[in-house]
Amino acid sequence: MHGARGTGCVLAETIYDVAIVGSGPAGYTAAIRGGQLGLKVALIEAAPVLGGTCLHVGCIPTKALLFNAELWDHLKHAAEYGIDGVEGCALNWAAVQKRKDAIVTKHTKGLEFLMKKNKVTVIRGYGKLTGPAQDGLHTVALTQTPEGAPAEVKSKHVIVATGSEAKTMLGLKPDDRILTNIEMLSVTEPPKRLIVIGAGAVGVEFGSIFQSFGTEITIVEFLPRIVSVEDEEISKELTRVFKKRGIDVNTGAKVEKIEKTEAGVKVTWTAANGKTVEKEADKVLVAVGRAPRTANVGLETTRVELDRGFVKVNEAQETAEPGVFAVGDIVLGMPQLAHVGMMSGIVAVTKIAGRKYKPVRKDRIPGATYCEPQIGSVGLTEAQAKEKGYEVKVGKFPFAGNSKATIVGSHDGFVKIVADAKYGEILGVHIIGPQATELVSEAVTVMELEGTVDELMFQIHAHPTLAEAMLDAYAAVEGMAINA
Ligand SMILES: Cc1cc2nc3c(=O)[nH]c(=O)nc-3n(C[C@H](O)[C@H](O)[C@H](O)COP(=O)(O)OP(=O)(O)OC[C@H]3O[C@@H](n4cnc5c(N)ncnc54)[C@H](O)[C@@H]3O)c2cc1C
Repeated sequence: MHGARGTGCVLAETIYDVAIVGSGPAGYTAAIRGGQLGLKVALIEAAPVLGGTCLHVGCIPTKALLFNAELWDHLKHAAEYGIDGVEGCALNWAAVQKRKDAIVTKHTKGLEFLMKKNKVTVIRGYGKLTGPAQDGLHTVALTQTPEGAPAEVKSKHVIVATGSEAKTMLGLKPDDRILTNIEMLSVTEPPKRLIVIGAGAVGVEFGSIFQSFGTEITIVEFLPRIVSVEDEEISKELTRVFKKRGIDVNTGAKVEKIEKTEAGVKVTWTAANGKTVEKEADKVLVAVGRAPRTANVGLETTRVELDRGFVKVNEAQETAEPGVFAVGDIVLGMPQLAHVGMMSGIVAVTKIAGRKYKPVRKDRIPGATYCEPQIGSVGLTEAQAKEKGYEVKVGKFPFAGNSKATIVGSHDGFVKIVADAKYGEILGVHIIGPQATELVSEAVTVMELEGTVDELMFQIHAHPTLAEAMLDAYAAVEGMAINA
């Protein structure tokens, strides 16, 4: 594993089994598993901290804020729970931010520890591929390195895990009023009025969280429905609850202009009915998707194939350039989710180690959207199952019939099961309601094991739990839910 170079004294040059470019969830998970598998791993990161979007400006800080928002919502109804004396309590935004930052810092330190534990060499710098392998070795050139750091890394394999960044629109750059997820997470106080452009997971999560903190939220979505990757009934239910919460939801709306006003912003859009609508707010959040970061990493010097900036890979995460793998948000055709990145990293590094792996299957990936009410889903929507030619049977059970949902005071939503009418196989599970992002794990396991309605109707769930809604939903496929 070690080569030699230099004249006079011989300098050992480290040759890695795998060099990973990018330390987001895809890269750091690949690094840890690589270490566990006995590979010599280099993890190259341009930012001063490990963890990528997910840890610093994505999953973790948003879910930290979400927890505050949930507590705050409960406090608003404290009297209903028999807790008096909290009227007039105030939100300490600085403390909310401090807690969020402390959580991120703790986990950043945790990653540094895990790299040491698994003997991963962390290299600070911006990595760029320099072409196909020479004599079986790839070279990743490094810039923006600290003093004394190497100018390049040589490795038998490279995993590209450079992630994604927020798309902007109308040529506007983010600032203190036109925000992406990065600026939104560090606002000095919740804005009074916020227009959210884009109603995918990022848009509805921020909209939901800040509505709880008292911000007046307007959502503007180009597509005919919000959370458009979800089953249609999920979109409908979320729209209903958002409207009930006072969120102004506009779909089929095309944003034409975003202008700065004296104190805020004005957004102009063409509504679904063709009318022009103007609305002012203090800030606008642009959440219109994420672009893969593949432009300046030397991929053009290799045979790696791109499609609209996304990398084409096979089921082992291999690109068209031998020895070069791609994982995480840059991969073509996969949802941009941290857990997809993590598993694709594990697959790549397991393949490199010559061990047995299981490819990432798109229809087994749980989707989780942490708005209120939460959404958890896996597999085919009802419409997709029908398009694929299945004869479909659907079971739906509302949380209104679940005793634990009553206990926790969260009655909106339902569990919807999409099953194959012929064999009863579960094709998709769509949950909106309390703890939906946790409940969806059961659905993934069920689908991994090719569970059928017949079997699952007899699967015992503890009482009283939210998970019992799953049992009732399986039974509802046969019209036999106990509690509805
Ligand atoms: C607001 C928000 C909330 C989200 N919430 C969730 C959630 O709850 N659950 C979920 O599953 N997903 C969530 N996501 C998506 C999730 O953050 C991404 O899917 C995930 O971070 C992608 O991981 P990655 O490793 O591919 O890339 P990234 O996390 O983007 O990391 C890439 C890393 O590569 C580094 N890098 C880039 N180029 C180079 C280079 N040339 N050299 C060296 N280093 C480089 C970057 O600095 C970065 O650290 C959220 C995203 C956002 C924006």
